[in-house]
Amino acid sequence: MVNIVIFGAPGSGKGTQSEFIIERHGLHHISTGEVLRDEIAKESELGKIADGYISKGHLIPDELMIDILDKLIDDKILRKGVIFDGFPRTINQAKALKAMLNNRGTDISAVIGLEVPENLLVERLVKRGKESGRSDDNEETIINRIQVYHNNTAPLMDYYKQEGLYFPIDGGTTIEAISDEINGVLTEILEKEANALV
Ligand code: ATP
Ligand code: MG
Repeated sequence: MVNIVIFGAPGSGKGTQSEFIIERHGLHHISTGEVLRDEIAKESELGKIADGYISKGHLIPDELMIDILDKLIDDKILRKGVIFDGFPRTINQAKALKAMLNNRGTDISAVIGLEVPENLLVERLVKRGKESGRSDDNEETIINRIQVYHNNTAPLMDYYKQEGLYFPIDGGTTIEAISDEINGVLTEILEKEANALV
């Protein structure tokens, strides 16, 4: 099976498109944002710590985040293939993910990059904030998150391009058109993987 990273700025549609990929390709979904929001809702120790960072638009520190992810990856889900949504967000996290997968005898097959113009990101997140009640979907925090994305996360594009793993997708069109484009890329990758096995 294949392990896919879905990559993009806040509001680029990672969660939405992950749902379609799961349906079509049967991969297991790991969304670090969702995991953290669940912990916040439960008011756990981890949730309290996470909320302090998330509500300001900061990233959870790498060491903590990598530890959380390590506990989420087990052999059972890797047999199925995983879609990583929201991880990695830093070069350190990317290196840790590679090591975690290599240690378990597997690797990343592709990084799907949802590329969306910045004005559209802000528009989508402000709109979502009105419905989601998420503590980080307000204008001030959104601007912070996009800044953090540029500083810490966007460099991963070049990192994965150098590894030959980066597949850019126009994430500024309709949900259906984006999903079709992703499906085209994934079908090709899955075929290649299947051919490599025979
Ligand atoms: P999208 O709308 O495309 O799904 P998003 O940025 O709005 O993306 P999440 O991926 O759900 O939302 O992340 C929400 C917040 O959780 C981040 O802003 C960050 O504070 C924290 N977080 C999630 N993943 C990580 C990570 N890998 N490292 C550090 N912090 C993280
Ligand atoms: Mg999300």
